[in-house]
Amino acid sequence: MVNVVWAYRRTGKFALHTLTGALETDARTAAVPITFANGVDAVVTAVQQALARGAARVLVGWSCYSPDFGLMTAELRQVREQVVDARVVHVAGGVHASAEPEATLRAGWDLVAIGEGERLVRDLVRCLDDGGDLRSVPGIASLGSDGHLRRRGRAERIVLDDFPPFGPAHDRFGPIEITRGCIYACRFCQTPYFAGAAFRHRSVANVRHWVRYLVGRGFRDFRFLTPTSLSYGSNGPAPDLGAVEALLAGVREEIGPSRRLWFGTFPSELRPEHVDAASLQLLRRWVSNKTVILGGQSGSDRVLAASARGHDSATIERAAALAIEHGFVPHVDFLFGLPGEEATDVEATLGLMDRLVARGAKVHGHTFMPLPGTPLRKAAPGVLGPEQRRRLRHLASKGQLYGQWEQQERVAKGLADGR
Ligand code: SF4
Repeated sequence: MVNVVWAYRRTGKFALHTLTGALETDARTAAVPITFANGVDAVVTAVQQALARGAARVLVGWSCYSPDFGLMTAELRQVREQVVDARVVHVAGGVHASAEPEATLRAGWDLVAIGEGERLVRDLVRCLDDGGDLRSVPGIASLGSDGHLRRRGRAERIVLDDFPPFGPAHDRFGPIEITRGCIYACRFCQTPYFAGAAFRHRSVANVRHWVRYLVGRGFRDFRFLTPTSLSYGSNGPAPDLGAVEALLAGVREEIGPSRRLWFGTFPSELRPEHVDAASLQLLRRWVSNKTVILGGQSGSDRVLAASARGHDSATIERAAALAIEHGFVPHVDFLFGLPGEEATDVEATLGLMDRLVARGAKVHGHTFMPLPGTPLRKAAPGVLGPEQRRRLRHLASKGQLYGQWEQQERVAKGLADGR
């Protein structure tokens, strides 16, 4: 029988939970043993145990995010040094591998799964079970015997309702993904380029089904995954507040008044132009969170336009003020070091951040990374100037700024160096 081992890391874990759910809900793959192996030693042990149990083939799945790619490559090398067996196949998937299949294969993976993994992982396991040629599976890329890239297109995009949002039979849970894909095409972001430039929503009935399931399993907190919370149910830039309310009211009906409903906060956010009195009143009525996350990114209108964000800096400021008026603490995302940023743009961003924190907002800081698959993949990595760093550290020392912005500056440089 085929065995699956997930190289299980914090950054990719929810993606692996959805793949687990996809395997659980297909009659031909439901019985496949799955091991969640965290770290090199655990992966090696899981693979050796599967082989010792008599597994005909072992599929080791790696979910690759760009910032982790160097680390994962080193881990793959260590696993390969310790387990040399033709029955084992290492497959990389996820946003980074899909954007850079050739580099991923040359880094040591046997196969790359391009695109969304739910259907693809079922096809791979079935193909392994049948003794077929994995390179013939749609969405699979490999290196031919001539060393050239061979790819079989891209995995078909799924309908969210057709798959569970996690792997319940293996007790692997996570936020319920309510929307995949994004109509906005922010030039620094991998989401629309990986998951498509259209929204695909999970239906209210399906969300309620999974919420009811979680209530039955004793969960008290309910979170949702979406690129833009107030776009739920909409196909375009204008929110459909009726659809958002149907979702939130339905979830609240399932969970009752004492369990907590998190929406418009981690792991989803609000676009600032969607924030107005009506949307905030709707959130106040149904959600439990007292903070909301606003996508801001820059205080410079020039940089916002160049990044194709689709809103200006005044909209960010207005959204934060309105959120505070309606009893929320806004946490505003910023991206430092965007391409083309000049001293006046940096000053505009720092000035906006100062005004926001003076009102009671908090700033979540990131540093720009030239991510594979995006229009800015070849741009210079984000770099912070000395005065900018000093002012950011000052805000951080007062608890007004948080985030991985300093580490991301190093990661961004590593990504650019590895191109
Ligand atoms: S940053 Fe947000 S709004 Fe922009 S493309 Fe990415 S997911 Fe969509």
